[in-house]
Amino acid sequence: MKRNFRFYFALFFAKCTALVLKLIGRKGTSMPGSWAIILCPDFLGRMPLPKEVVLVAGTNGKTTVANLIEDILTANGVDYLCNRGGANVNTGLASTLIAGSTFFGRPKHDLAIFEFDERSAPLILPYIKPSTFLCTNLCRDALDRNANVDFIVKLINENLWQGAKLVVNGDDLIASHLAPGSQRVCFGISQLPRDSGSRPNLVRDIVCCPECDTPLSYDFLRYNHIGRAHCPQCGWGTHPIAYDCTAVDMDAMEFTLRTPHGEEAYRLPGANITDLYNTVTAVAFLRDRGLSYQQVAGALQGAQLARSRYDVEKVGDKEVIFCLAKGQSPIASSRVFDFITRQGGRAAIILLNYDSHDQAHSSENIGWLYEVDYEFLRNDCVKQLIPTGNRCYDYQVRALLAGMEPSRVHAAPQPEEAAALVDLDNVDKVYILHAVFTVPDARRARDELVKRINGKEAC
Ligand SMILES: [Zn+2]
Repeated sequence: MKRNFRFYFALFFAKCTALVLKLIGRKGTSMPGSWAIILCPDFLGRMPLPKEVVLVAGTNGKTTVANLIEDILTANGVDYLCNRGGANVNTGLASTLIAGSTFFGRPKHDLAIFEFDERSAPLILPYIKPSTFLCTNLCRDALDRNANVDFIVKLINENLWQGAKLVVNGDDLIASHLAPGSQRVCFGISQLPRDSGSRPNLVRDIVCCPECDTPLSYDFLRYNHIGRAHCPQCGWGTHPIAYDCTAVDMDAMEFTLRTPHGEEAYRLPGANITDLYNTVTAVAFLRDRGLSYQQVAGALQGAQLARSRYDVEKVGDKEVIFCLAKGQSPIASSRVFDFITRQGGRAAIILLNYDSHDQAHSSENIGWLYEVDYEFLRNDCVKQLIPTGNRCYDYQVRALLAGMEPSRVHAAPQPEEAAALVDLDNVDKVYILHAVFTVPDARRARDELVKRINGKEAC
Protein backbone atom coordinates (compact mmCIF):
# COMPACT_ATOMS: atom_id res chain seq x y z
CA MET A 1 0.00 0.00 0.00
CA LYS A 2 1.19 3.52 -0.79
CA ARG A 3 1.90 5.98 1.96
CA ASN A 4 -0.43 8.95 1.65
CA PHE A 5 -0.96 12.17 3.59
CA ARG A 6 -3.43 10.43 5.91
CA PHE A 7 -0.82 7.80 6.82
CA TYR A 8 1.87 10.40 7.60
CA PHE A 9 -0.56 12.45 9.66
CA ALA A 10 -1.50 9.32 11.68
CA LEU A 11 2.18 8.40 12.08
CA PHE A 12 3.23 11.84 13.34
CA PHE A 13 0.22 12.09 15.62
CA ALA A 14 1.03 8.65 17.07
CA LYS A 15 4.71 9.56 17.52
CA CYS A 16 3.69 12.74 19.37
CA THR A 17 1.31 10.70 21.57
CA ALA A 18 4.16 8.28 22.40
CA LEU A 19 6.44 11.22 23.23
CA VAL A 20 3.86 12.86 25.52
CA LEU A 21 3.20 9.52 27.28
CA LYS A 22 6.93 9.13 27.80
CA LEU A 23 7.28 12.68 29.16
CA ILE A 24 4.51 12.17 31.71
CA GLY A 25 5.98 8.79 32.66
CA ARG A 26 3.07 6.66 31.48
CA LYS A 27 3.44 3.34 29.82
CA GLY A 28 0.84 3.49 27.06
CA THR A 29 1.78 0.32 25.23
CA SER A 30 -1.02 0.40 22.68
CA MET A 31 -2.27 4.00 22.79
CA PRO A 32 -0.08 5.43 19.99
CA GLY A 33 -1.07 2.50 17.77
CA SER A 34 -4.75 2.95 18.66
CA TRP A 35 -4.58 6.56 17.52
CA ALA A 36 -2.75 5.64 14.33
CA ILE A 37 -5.45 3.09 13.42
CA ILE A 38 -8.30 5.46 14.33
CA LEU A 39 -6.82 8.15 12.05
CA CYS A 40 -5.76 5.74 9.29
CA PRO A 41 -7.70 2.42 9.50
CA ASP A 42 -5.29 0.58 7.14
CA PHE A 43 -2.24 2.02 8.92
CA LEU A 44 -0.63 -1.42 9.38
CA GLY A 45 -0.76 -2.01 5.62
CA ARG A 46 0.96 1.31 4.87
CA MET A 47 3.60 1.15 7.63
CA PRO A 48 7.00 -0.04 6.29
CA LEU A 49 7.91 -3.37 7.90
CA PRO A 50 11.22 -4.94 8.90
CA LYS A 51 12.54 -7.28 6.17
CA GLU A 52 11.71 -10.37 8.20
CA VAL A 53 8.61 -10.59 10.40
CA VAL A 54 8.04 -13.62 12.65
CA LEU A 55 4.61 -13.99 14.25
CA VAL A 56 4.42 -16.20 17.34
CA ALA A 57 0.89 -17.52 17.79
CA GLY A 58 -0.80 -20.23 19.86
CA THR A 59 -3.37 -20.63 22.60
CA ASN A 60 -0.78 -21.41 25.27
CA GLY A 61 2.94 -20.67 25.54
CA LYS A 62 3.34 -17.91 22.96
CA THR A 63 4.64 -15.31 25.42
CA THR A 64 7.15 -17.74 26.93
CA VAL A 65 8.30 -18.90 23.48
CA ALA A 66 8.62 -15.36 22.10
CA ASN A 67 10.60 -14.30 25.19
CA LEU A 68 12.87 -17.34 24.96
CA ILE A 69 13.56 -16.71 21.26
CA GLU A 70 14.33 -13.07 22.01
CA ASP A 71 16.69 -13.96 24.89
CA ILE A 72 18.62 -16.42 22.72
CA LEU A 73 18.85 -13.88 19.87
CA THR A 74 20.06 -11.21 22.31
CA ALA A 75 22.69 -13.57 23.73
CA ASN A 76 23.96 -14.02 20.16
CA GLY A 77 24.04 -10.32 19.40
CA VAL A 78 21.16 -10.43 16.89
CA ASP A 79 19.27 -7.14 16.58
CA TYR A 80 15.46 -7.31 16.47
CA LEU A 81 12.22 -5.48 17.24
CA CYS A 82 9.63 -7.12 19.54
CA ASN A 83 6.39 -6.45 21.42
CA ARG A 84 7.65 -7.84 24.71
CA GLY A 85 5.17 -5.76 26.71
CA GLY A 86 2.54 -8.25 25.55
CA ALA A 87 0.58 -5.83 23.32
CA ASN A 88 -0.22 -8.52 20.74
CA VAL A 89 -3.36 -7.16 19.03
CA ASN A 90 -3.38 -4.82 16.00
CA THR A 91 -2.99 -1.62 18.05
CA GLY A 92 -0.10 -3.10 20.03
CA LEU A 93 1.72 -4.17 16.88
CA ALA A 94 1.15 -0.70 15.38
CA SER A 95 2.60 0.91 18.54
CA THR A 96 5.65 -1.37 18.41
CA LEU A 97 6.26 -0.64 14.73
CA ILE A 98 5.93 3.10 15.35
CA ALA A 99 8.38 2.94 18.27
CA GLY A 100 10.82 0.93 16.17
CA SER A 101 10.82 3.36 13.24
CA THR A 102 12.54 6.59 12.22
CA PHE A 103 10.76 9.94 12.03
CA PHE A 104 9.36 9.09 8.58
CA GLY A 105 8.41 5.55 9.56
CA ARG A 106 11.39 3.64 8.16
CA PRO A 107 12.09 0.49 10.25
CA LYS A 108 15.20 0.64 12.45
CA HIS A 109 15.49 -3.17 12.56
CA ASP A 110 15.66 -5.90 9.91
CA LEU A 111 13.97 -8.54 12.06
CA ALA A 112 10.74 -8.40 14.09
CA ILE A 113 9.55 -11.06 16.56
CA PHE A 114 5.90 -10.37 17.34
CA GLU A 115 3.70 -12.23 19.74
CA PHE A 116 0.40 -12.49 17.89
CA ASP A 117 -3.19 -12.74 19.14
CA GLU A 118 -4.98 -15.31 16.96
CA ARG A 119 -8.38 -13.68 17.44
CA SER A 120 -6.96 -10.51 15.83
CA ALA A 121 -5.98 -12.37 12.64
CA PRO A 122 -8.48 -10.47 10.41
CA LEU A 123 -7.13 -7.14 11.72
CA ILE A 124 -3.44 -8.00 11.30
CA LEU A 125 -2.81 -10.66 8.65
CA PRO A 126 -4.30 -8.80 5.66
CA TYR A 127 -1.64 -6.12 6.29
CA ILE A 128 1.34 -7.92 7.78
CA LYS A 129 2.67 -10.78 5.66
CA PRO A 130 5.02 -12.71 7.97
CA SER A 131 8.01 -14.61 6.66
CA THR A 132 7.46 -17.16 9.45
CA PHE A 133 4.26 -18.03 11.29
CA LEU A 134 5.07 -19.98 14.42
CA CYS A 135 2.27 -21.76 16.29
CA THR A 136 2.71 -23.47 19.66
CA ASN A 137 -0.74 -25.11 19.82
CA LEU A 138 -4.42 -24.32 19.26
CA CYS A 139 -7.13 -25.36 21.68
CA ARG A 140 -10.33 -24.06 23.22
CA ASP A 141 -9.81 -20.92 25.25
CA ALA A 142 -11.81 -17.86 26.42
CA LEU A 143 -15.12 -19.10 25.07
CA ASP A 144 -16.80 -15.69 25.04
CA ARG A 145 -13.97 -14.14 23.00
CA ASN A 146 -12.67 -16.95 20.82
CA ALA A 147 -15.83 -19.06 20.41
CA ASN A 148 -14.59 -22.38 19.09
CA VAL A 149 -11.08 -23.46 18.07
CA ASP A 150 -12.44 -24.16 14.55
CA PHE A 151 -13.42 -20.49 14.34
CA ILE A 152 -9.85 -19.43 15.21
CA VAL A 153 -8.45 -21.83 12.59
CA LYS A 154 -10.81 -20.33 10.01
CA LEU A 155 -9.70 -16.77 10.89
CA ILE A 156 -6.04 -17.69 10.43
CA ASN A 157 -6.53 -19.73 7.25
CA GLU A 158 -8.62 -17.03 5.60
CA ASN A 159 -6.10 -14.28 6.32
CA LEU A 160 -2.59 -15.77 6.37
CA TRP A 161 -0.75 -15.32 3.06
CA GLN A 162 0.49 -18.45 1.26
CA GLY A 163 4.15 -17.31 1.32
CA ALA A 164 4.54 -17.67 5.09
CA LYS A 165 6.66 -20.56 6.30
CA LEU A 166 4.94 -22.34 9.15
CA VAL A 167 6.84 -23.62 12.17
CA VAL A 168 4.22 -25.64 13.99
CA ASN A 169 3.68 -28.18 16.75
CA GLY A 170 3.43 -31.51 14.95
CA ASP A 171 1.87 -33.12 18.04
CA ASP A 172 -1.10 -30.79 17.67
CA LEU A 173 -3.22 -31.99 14.76
CA ILE A 174 -5.06 -28.65 14.68
CA ALA A 175 -2.07 -26.28 14.71
CA SER A 176 0.07 -28.43 12.42
CA HIS A 177 -2.60 -28.50 9.71
CA LEU A 178 -3.03 -24.72 9.55
CA ALA A 179 -2.77 -23.10 6.10
CA PRO A 180 -2.85 -26.25 3.96
CA GLY A 181 -0.48 -25.94 1.01
CA SER A 182 2.01 -23.69 2.80
CA GLN A 183 5.58 -24.77 3.51
CA ARG A 184 5.93 -26.09 7.06
CA VAL A 185 8.46 -27.38 9.58
CA CYS A 186 7.09 -29.46 12.45
CA PHE A 187 8.51 -29.97 15.90
CA GLY A 188 7.28 -32.32 18.62
CA ILE A 189 8.03 -34.62 21.52
CA SER A 190 8.08 -38.37 20.91
CA GLN A 191 6.32 -40.68 23.30
CA LEU A 192 8.24 -40.56 26.58
CA PRO A 193 8.16 -42.91 29.58
CA ARG A 194 6.33 -40.17 31.51
CA ASP A 195 3.45 -40.40 29.00
CA SER A 196 2.55 -43.90 30.16
CA GLY A 197 0.88 -42.46 33.26
CA SER A 198 -1.10 -39.91 31.25
CA ARG A 199 -4.58 -39.37 32.54
CA PRO A 200 -7.63 -38.88 30.41
CA ASN A 201 -8.86 -35.31 30.07
CA LEU A 202 -12.42 -34.07 29.89
CA VAL A 203 -11.97 -32.25 26.57
CA ARG A 204 -10.34 -33.09 23.25
CA ASP A 205 -10.62 -30.54 20.45
CA ILE A 206 -10.14 -33.00 17.58
CA VAL A 207 -11.59 -36.51 17.65
CA CYS A 208 -12.42 -37.34 14.02
CA CYS A 209 -10.55 -36.96 10.74
CA PRO A 210 -11.53 -33.60 9.19
CA GLU A 211 -11.31 -35.17 5.69
CA CYS A 212 -13.57 -38.20 6.09
CA ASP A 213 -15.03 -38.05 9.62
CA THR A 214 -13.54 -41.38 10.67
CA PRO A 215 -12.51 -41.50 14.37
CA LEU A 216 -8.75 -40.88 14.61
CA SER A 217 -6.47 -43.65 15.75
CA TYR A 218 -3.91 -42.35 18.25
CA ASP A 219 -0.37 -43.75 18.31
CA PHE A 220 -0.20 -42.02 21.67
CA LEU A 221 -2.19 -39.31 23.39
CA ARG A 222 -0.23 -37.07 25.74
CA TYR A 223 -3.01 -34.79 27.00
CA ASN A 224 -6.22 -33.32 25.60
CA HIS A 225 -5.73 -33.57 21.82
CA ILE A 226 -1.91 -33.40 21.97
CA GLY A 227 -0.33 -36.60 20.67
CA ARG A 228 0.24 -38.42 17.38
CA ALA A 229 -2.56 -39.92 15.34
CA HIS A 230 -3.68 -40.97 11.90
CA CYS A 231 -6.95 -41.66 10.17
CA PRO A 232 -7.31 -45.40 9.50
CA GLN A 233 -9.54 -44.62 6.51
CA CYS A 234 -7.67 -41.97 4.46
CA GLY A 235 -4.23 -41.62 6.06
CA TRP A 236 -4.66 -38.00 7.20
CA GLY A 237 -2.72 -37.36 10.39
CA THR A 238 0.55 -36.32 12.01
CA HIS A 239 3.06 -34.70 9.64
CA PRO A 240 6.71 -35.82 9.61
CA ILE A 241 8.46 -34.24 12.63
CA ALA A 242 11.70 -32.48 11.67
CA TYR A 243 12.67 -31.48 15.22
CA ASP A 244 11.70 -34.32 17.54
CA CYS A 245 12.53 -34.51 21.22
CA THR A 246 13.33 -38.18 21.74
CA ALA A 247 14.55 -38.30 25.35
CA VAL A 248 14.43 -36.24 28.52
CA ASP A 249 16.71 -36.55 31.53
CA MET A 250 14.95 -34.81 34.39
CA ASP A 251 17.87 -35.33 36.80
CA ALA A 252 20.34 -33.57 34.51
CA MET A 253 17.56 -31.23 33.23
CA GLU A 254 18.51 -32.01 29.63
CA PHE A 255 16.72 -33.22 26.55
CA THR A 256 17.77 -34.82 23.27
CA LEU A 257 16.49 -33.38 20.00
CA ARG A 258 16.62 -35.30 16.71
CA THR A 259 17.08 -32.66 14.02
CA PRO A 260 17.86 -32.58 10.28
CA HIS A 261 21.43 -31.79 11.42
CA GLY A 262 21.73 -34.82 13.72
CA GLU A 263 21.06 -35.51 17.40
CA GLU A 264 21.56 -32.54 19.72
CA ALA A 265 21.44 -32.13 23.51
CA TYR A 266 19.98 -29.03 25.18
CA ARG A 267 19.40 -27.79 28.68
CA LEU A 268 15.79 -27.83 29.87
CA PRO A 269 14.93 -24.63 31.78
CA GLY A 270 11.80 -25.99 33.55
CA ALA A 271 10.33 -29.24 34.85
CA ASN A 272 6.85 -29.04 33.34
CA ILE A 273 5.90 -30.73 30.05
CA THR A 274 4.83 -27.29 28.79
CA ASP A 275 8.34 -25.97 29.58
CA LEU A 276 9.69 -28.75 27.37
CA TYR A 277 7.28 -27.89 24.55
CA ASN A 278 8.12 -24.19 24.77
CA THR A 279 11.86 -24.87 24.71
CA VAL A 280 11.60 -27.33 21.80
CA THR A 281 9.53 -24.73 19.90
CA ALA A 282 12.13 -21.98 20.35
CA VAL A 283 15.04 -24.29 19.51
CA ALA A 284 13.32 -25.68 16.38
CA PHE A 285 12.58 -22.17 15.09
CA LEU A 286 16.10 -20.85 15.74
CA ARG A 287 17.90 -23.90 14.33
CA ASP A 288 15.67 -23.81 11.26
CA ARG A 289 16.38 -20.10 10.88
CA GLY A 290 20.10 -20.80 10.70
CA LEU A 291 21.53 -20.31 14.18
CA SER A 292 24.17 -22.93 14.93
CA TYR A 293 23.84 -25.61 17.61
CA GLN A 294 26.52 -23.86 19.68
CA GLN A 295 24.69 -20.53 19.45
CA VAL A 296 21.35 -21.96 20.58
CA ALA A 297 22.61 -24.47 23.17
CA GLY A 298 25.06 -21.94 24.63
CA ALA A 299 22.41 -19.25 25.06
CA LEU A 300 19.94 -21.75 26.49
CA GLN A 301 22.38 -22.52 29.32
CA GLY A 302 21.71 -19.09 30.78
CA ALA A 303 18.07 -18.72 29.74
CA GLN A 304 15.31 -18.49 32.31
CA LEU A 305 11.57 -18.82 31.91
CA ALA A 306 9.70 -15.64 32.86
CA ARG A 307 9.61 -15.44 36.67
CA SER A 308 6.06 -14.13 36.64
CA ARG A 309 4.89 -17.45 35.19
CA TYR A 310 6.54 -19.85 37.63
CA ASP A 311 8.43 -18.82 40.70
CA VAL A 312 9.40 -20.89 43.76
CA GLU A 313 10.23 -19.05 46.96
CA LYS A 314 11.49 -20.71 50.12
CA VAL A 315 9.83 -19.15 53.19
CA GLY A 316 10.87 -20.79 56.47
CA ASP A 317 10.40 -24.51 55.95
CA LYS A 318 7.66 -24.00 53.31
CA GLU A 319 7.76 -23.51 49.56
CA VAL A 320 5.54 -20.77 48.20
CA ILE A 321 5.01 -21.31 44.48
CA PHE A 322 3.65 -18.59 42.23
CA CYS A 323 2.29 -20.14 39.05
CA LEU A 324 0.23 -18.99 36.08
CA ALA A 325 -2.96 -21.01 35.44
CA LYS A 326 -4.78 -18.93 32.86
CA GLY A 327 -8.42 -18.14 33.54
CA GLN A 328 -10.98 -19.32 30.98
CA SER A 329 -8.41 -21.69 29.55
CA PRO A 330 -9.36 -25.30 30.36
CA ILE A 331 -6.21 -26.87 28.92
CA ALA A 332 -3.75 -24.49 30.63
CA SER A 333 -5.43 -24.91 34.02
CA SER A 334 -5.65 -28.70 33.64
CA ARG A 335 -1.93 -28.84 32.78
CA VAL A 336 -1.10 -27.04 36.01
CA PHE A 337 -3.34 -29.33 38.09
CA ASP A 338 -1.70 -32.36 36.48
CA PHE A 339 1.78 -30.92 37.15
CA ILE A 340 1.03 -30.21 40.84
CA THR A 341 -0.21 -33.72 41.55
CA ARG A 342 2.80 -35.24 39.76
CA GLN A 343 5.12 -33.24 42.04
CA GLY A 344 3.64 -34.92 45.15
CA GLY A 345 4.38 -33.70 48.68
CA ARG A 346 1.74 -32.10 50.88
CA ALA A 347 0.26 -29.13 49.07
CA ALA A 348 -2.30 -26.40 49.54
CA ILE A 349 -3.58 -24.58 46.47
CA ILE A 350 -4.87 -21.02 46.60
CA LEU A 351 -6.80 -20.66 43.37
CA LEU A 352 -7.03 -17.22 41.76
CA ASN A 353 -7.50 -18.10 38.10
CA TYR A 354 -10.67 -16.05 37.79
CA ASP A 355 -10.59 -13.29 35.25
CA SER A 356 -11.15 -9.91 36.86
CA HIS A 357 -10.64 -8.34 33.41
CA ASP A 358 -13.64 -10.29 32.25
CA GLN A 359 -15.68 -9.30 35.26
CA ALA A 360 -15.23 -5.71 34.18
CA HIS A 361 -17.04 -6.66 30.99
CA SER A 362 -19.77 -8.50 32.92
CA SER A 363 -18.88 -11.98 31.74
CA GLU A 364 -21.13 -14.50 33.42
CA ASN A 365 -19.84 -17.57 31.63
CA ILE A 366 -18.51 -20.18 34.04
CA GLY A 367 -18.94 -23.07 31.60
CA TRP A 368 -15.19 -23.41 31.21
CA LEU A 369 -14.85 -24.52 34.85
CA TYR A 370 -16.52 -27.75 33.83
CA GLU A 371 -13.91 -28.35 31.12
CA VAL A 372 -10.99 -28.08 33.56
CA ASP A 373 -9.86 -31.43 35.00
CA TYR A 374 -10.57 -30.74 38.68
CA GLU A 375 -10.70 -34.54 38.95
CA PHE A 376 -6.86 -34.49 39.01
CA LEU A 377 -7.00 -32.72 42.38
CA ARG A 378 -8.73 -35.72 43.93
CA ASN A 379 -5.26 -36.78 44.94
CA ASP A 380 -3.90 -37.29 48.43
CA CYS A 381 -1.12 -34.73 47.91
CA VAL A 382 -3.70 -31.94 47.61
CA LYS A 383 -4.46 -31.32 51.27
CA GLN A 384 -6.36 -28.10 50.64
CA LEU A 385 -7.94 -26.30 47.71
CA ILE A 386 -8.83 -22.71 48.53
CA PRO A 387 -10.60 -20.86 45.72
CA THR A 388 -10.86 -17.12 46.19
CA GLY A 389 -12.41 -14.12 44.40
CA ASN A 390 -16.02 -13.24 43.64
CA ARG A 391 -16.69 -16.61 42.10
CA CYS A 392 -15.03 -18.72 44.79
CA TYR A 393 -18.23 -20.61 45.56
CA ASP A 394 -18.65 -21.64 41.90
CA TYR A 395 -15.14 -23.07 42.01
CA GLN A 396 -15.94 -24.83 45.29
CA VAL A 397 -19.00 -26.49 43.73
CA ARG A 398 -16.92 -27.58 40.73
CA ALA A 399 -14.28 -29.17 42.98
CA LEU A 400 -16.93 -30.98 45.03
CA LEU A 401 -18.58 -32.30 41.85
CA ALA A 402 -15.15 -33.63 40.83
CA GLY A 403 -15.25 -35.74 43.98
CA MET A 404 -12.86 -33.83 46.23
CA GLU A 405 -13.40 -34.39 49.94
CA PRO A 406 -15.50 -31.48 51.29
CA SER A 407 -13.10 -31.09 54.26
CA ARG A 408 -10.30 -30.20 51.81
CA VAL A 409 -12.16 -27.49 49.85
CA HIS A 410 -12.58 -24.05 51.41
CA ALA A 411 -13.91 -20.97 49.62
CA ALA A 412 -12.71 -17.50 50.68
CA PRO A 413 -13.82 -14.35 48.83
CA GLN A 414 -10.73 -12.28 49.79
CA PRO A 415 -7.11 -13.29 49.00
CA GLU A 416 -6.04 -12.58 52.61
CA GLU A 417 -8.79 -14.85 53.92
CA ALA A 418 -7.58 -17.57 51.59
CA ALA A 419 -4.05 -17.23 52.95
CA ALA A 420 -5.41 -17.36 56.52
CA LEU A 421 -7.11 -20.70 55.78
CA VAL A 422 -3.90 -22.52 54.81
CA ASP A 423 -3.20 -25.22 57.40
CA LEU A 424 0.52 -24.63 57.90
CA ASP A 425 0.89 -27.70 60.14
CA ASN A 426 -0.36 -29.98 57.42
CA VAL A 427 1.33 -28.73 54.22
CA ASP A 428 4.91 -28.27 52.97
CA LYS A 429 4.15 -26.15 49.96
CA VAL A 430 1.54 -23.66 48.88
CA TYR A 431 0.75 -23.09 45.22
CA ILE A 432 -0.69 -19.69 44.36
CA LEU A 433 -2.32 -20.22 40.98
CA HIS A 434 -3.15 -16.94 39.31
CA ALA A 435 -4.52 -15.71 35.99
CA VAL A 436 -2.92 -13.03 33.82
CA PHE A 437 -5.05 -10.28 35.38
CA THR A 438 -5.09 -11.48 39.00
CA VAL A 439 -1.41 -11.01 39.86
CA PRO A 440 -2.14 -8.12 42.32
CA ASP A 441 -4.64 -10.34 44.22
CA ALA A 442 -2.16 -13.22 44.12
CA ARG A 443 0.49 -10.95 45.68
CA ARG A 444 -1.94 -10.02 48.47
CA ALA A 445 -2.45 -13.72 49.23
CA ARG A 446 1.31 -14.33 49.09
CA ASP A 447 2.17 -11.42 51.40
CA GLU A 448 -0.35 -12.56 53.99
CA LEU A 449 0.91 -16.12 53.74
CA VAL A 450 4.56 -15.09 54.12
CA LYS A 451 3.60 -12.99 57.16
CA ARG A 452 1.87 -16.00 58.73
CA ILE A 453 4.76 -18.40 58.03
CA ASN A 454 7.35 -15.95 59.41
CA GLY A 455 5.14 -15.24 62.45
CA LYS A 456 4.87 -18.95 63.13
CA GLU A 457 8.63 -19.41 62.80
CA ALA A 458 9.22 -16.58 65.30
CA CYS A 459 6.97 -18.20 67.94
ZN1 LIG B 1 -9.77 -39.61 7.05
